[in-house]
Amino acid sequence: QAKEGGKDSYRLFTSEMNDSVQRRLRLEYHLVWALSRGEFSVVYQPLYDLKTNRISGAEALLRWNNDELGAVPPSEFIPIAEQSNLIYEIGKFVLDTAMNDFSELKNREGDLLHLAVNISPQQVRQSHFVEDFMATLEKQGFAPNRLELEVTEGLLLSNQPNVKEMLHKLHDLGTELSMDDFGTGYSSLSYLLQFPFDALKIDREFVDGITDVELNEALATAVISMAQGLKIKTVAEGVETEEQLEMLKSKGCDLAQGYYLSRPLDIDGLKTLLGEMGGESLKDGKNTKKAK
Ligand code: C2E
Ligand code: MG
Ligand code: MG
Ligand code: MG
Repeated sequence: QAKEGGKDSYRLFTSEMNDSVQRRLRLEYHLVWALSRGEFSVVYQPLYDLKTNRISGAEALLRWNNDELGAVPPSEFIPIAEQSNLIYEIGKFVLDTAMNDFSELKNREGDLLHLAVNISPQQVRQSHFVEDFMATLEKQGFAPNRLELEVTEGLLLSNQPNVKEMLHKLHDLGTELSMDDFGTGYSSLSYLLQFPFDALKIDREFVDGITDVELNEALATAVISMAQGLKIKTVAEGVETEEQLEMLKSKGCDLAQGYYLSRPLDIDGLKTLLGEMGGESLKDGKNTKKAK
């Protein structure tokens, strides 16, 4: 009997493995064609300036919709795109599309909106990344200081000498650099000091418990005051409740994004939101229209 049980669980294990390997292969197969078949789109999640209560920018987030697979979340396909080197062309598509959508986009106060774009380590490691980036800016007539590039620790971990040089080049153009998912890696703090970051994004994990887990509140307080000392902006991600928002404001956090403020929207949804909001914004609270 024991033998049989063992055999069964072995069988179960391999069939689960096969499932995940097969899923991966299917994704990879479809991903190769996704760009040329126009299956990607970009949505934008507003970033609220907590000092002025206004939308000052938005983060571009990639979406993939395939006939056979349906909507595949970025957390599933981005790692595959990175491993198969498709990320370079895909990353270009995101930058191109987002700059095009944002070229004239202003908030109600008439300020041009900032655009935050996630960049994979693999993209930046390409020797011509900066040149390509500058060419895209030029082509789109887009001011470099309207852009914020969000990078994760993974990039800095690679420890390649040219990564530091490239980040400095980008920063010298006036483009802002944000450290994404701050607090989830091992060395976020030491990297903040070593590289020219303008902002850090407090990961959702810490924002989530901020009102009921003492340690998370203490961490958020420490991170915000440390950033202030370093003259780095703080952005809270994943704000889902009014309580979280108020707590972050009281601690001096500069910017916030999250479902409580707005879901990611397609470009038309974003334009509608900007038009509707008038001078108000945070006080009107929630906007969950056209959720993507
Ligand atoms: P991220 O850069 O940390 O982006 C924030 C993620 O949190 C987004 O997930 C967003 O939809 C989600 N989010 C925002 N507010 C809330 C909230 O209040 N509650 C919850 N539960 N979630 C919230 P998304 O769009 O699924 O993207 C996941 C990750 O995929 C991103 O994390 C980013 O690392 C990566 N990604 C997305 N688009 C791109 C891209 O164009 N290029 C690259 N390289 N990576 C991308
Ligand atoms: Mg991001
Ligand atoms: Mg993030
Ligand atoms: Mg995150």
